[in-house]
Amino acid sequence: MTTRDTQVLVVGAGNAALSAALAAAEQGARVLVLERAPFDERGGNSRFTAGAIRFAHNGLQDLLTVMPDLTMEEREKTDFGTYTRDDYFDDMGRVTRFRADPDLVETLIDNSLATLQWMKAKGVRFQPSYGRQAFKVDGRFRFWGGLCLETWGGGPGLVDMLTAAAEKAGIEILYETRAVDLIHEKGEVRGVVARRGQEIFDIRAGAVVLAAGGFEANAEWRTRYLGPGWDLARVRGTRFNTGDGIRMALDIGAMSTGNWSGCHAVGWDRNAPEFGDLTVGDGFQKHSYPFGIMVNAAGRRFVDEGADFRNYTYAKYGRVILDQPGQFAWQVFDSKVVHLLRDEYRIRRVTKATANTLEELAGKLDDVDAKGFLEEVAAYNAAVMTDVPFNPTIKDGRGTRGLAVPKSNWANLLDAPPFEAYATTCGITFTFGGLKITTEGHVIDSDGAPIPGLYAAGELVGGLFYFNYPGGTGLMSGSVFGRLAGSSAGRAATG
Ligand SMILES: Cc1cc2nc3c(=O)[nH]c(=O)nc-3n(C[C@H](O)[C@H](O)[C@H](O)COP(=O)(O)OP(=O)(O)OC[C@H]3O[C@@H](n4cnc5c(N)ncnc54)[C@H](O)[C@@H]3O)c2cc1C
Repeated sequence: MTTRDTQVLVVGAGNAALSAALAAAEQGARVLVLERAPFDERGGNSRFTAGAIRFAHNGLQDLLTVMPDLTMEEREKTDFGTYTRDDYFDDMGRVTRFRADPDLVETLIDNSLATLQWMKAKGVRFQPSYGRQAFKVDGRFRFWGGLCLETWGGGPGLVDMLTAAAEKAGIEILYETRAVDLIHEKGEVRGVVARRGQEIFDIRAGAVVLAAGGFEANAEWRTRYLGPGWDLARVRGTRFNTGDGIRMALDIGAMSTGNWSGCHAVGWDRNAPEFGDLTVGDGFQKHSYPFGIMVNAAGRRFVDEGADFRNYTYAKYGRVILDQPGQFAWQVFDSKVVHLLRDEYRIRRVTKATANTLEELAGKLDDVDAKGFLEEVAAYNAAVMTDVPFNPTIKDGRGTRGLAVPKSNWANLLDAPPFEAYATTCGITFTFGGLKITTEGHVIDSDGAPIPGLYAAGELVGGLFYFNYPGGTGLMSGSVFGRLAGSSAGRAATG
């Protein structure tokens, strides 16, 4: 292959990249997308998601602008609630301990609904997230935790719909083509050096948008930046996000920013493969722990399973599991709550134990001290506030009294057989540290000035997430900043 040229070159073909490509094309630019993965593994982490997406809205009228085909029956039987701009600000501030870049947060929130409407106009369809984000109360579905919508067909559907939109817009996607370096001439980015098999070639461009994901699939960088033990985490998604986009930009003087020792990581099946498996998607996750308890190798609880709605705790509890002896934890439930467990508990590839007594279960929890476990359950059962009613749709305050590791909500006695237990380890989703950008998606250099010709969006942007993350924000961030970066790049390349 000889040297090629285009006006806007986008690195990656996940949600952020395809949003950027579509926005650049809207500016009249000729757009080329490079995807490192082969066609069968395309779409990055975006394809592994359930498509849950967090945006600010004031209720049904706003929702109808992105889901106009909601039936009358669905409207009547559902309490979608609202998730206002203030709610979103509160959540981003609280979970990131007010470290998130306020300008990026404001841009994310204020563009969230408009960006969904834009995606809809491009052909992306949305539906209510009944299965995962709502419980039925008095015959009506009630949504909780600020998330009510997902893309049609989940992550695979999202990638397919965006890819179809890109093809319709005349955007070319080169698969199995990896960007390895930026072409940087006289202070300006003028394209990339690409590799396809053994062939190395230049692709010249008026502007480049980096949307190649974080460094979660790079065990060495994980250990280097997140710390010892992170090489042992399983990767929940794509094996292709090894930090290339971040490295290429840092090599030419981009500023790094954000929580480099932080990441999104969850409880994930203990026997899941090293990288994600597209036939399972996000099914290895085990997110219903607020309704049970989690114990470690000593048989002891180690974290408040009911500290908050799972949307606000799941992304930080992977790290807590990684810190346990042997990097694993068992989640334990009894028959009273089994109907509340999400569908991921019923997949075929699950590490599960069942028993009719706690003593029998104790003997089946691999690598767990049985005596410690039985003592722990006895102490936990004695501490549950049974006088407070249980309600999974609110933070019900039904906690424990007097335990060193409290459970703050949704505490139920473990006393109704059969008992079920699920073995988890730490699954890393994506990393938080990355490149510094402006609110228009322009990459900033280490002196604080925009680098001409270089834009970025998605996971490889730093400064938005610290310590933790509100569920559904990864896709929203990729869409909002992808669209902004793509528009900026399109204008720069055609202007
Ligand atoms: C199992 C799982 C479930 C999730 N569920 C949700 C959810 O429901 N809602 C939510 O908001 N978020 C969810 N997330 C997080 C979400 O996936 C990410 O935040 C988001 O998809 C990141 O989008 P992106 O475009 O930045 O990266 P990606 O979608 O990962 O795309 C990056 C792309 O860059 C390509 N690439 C990498 N290096 C190169 C290179 N050198 N040259 C060319 N291409 C390259 C990769 O192949 C990939 O296609 C989930 C993640 C996982 C793993």
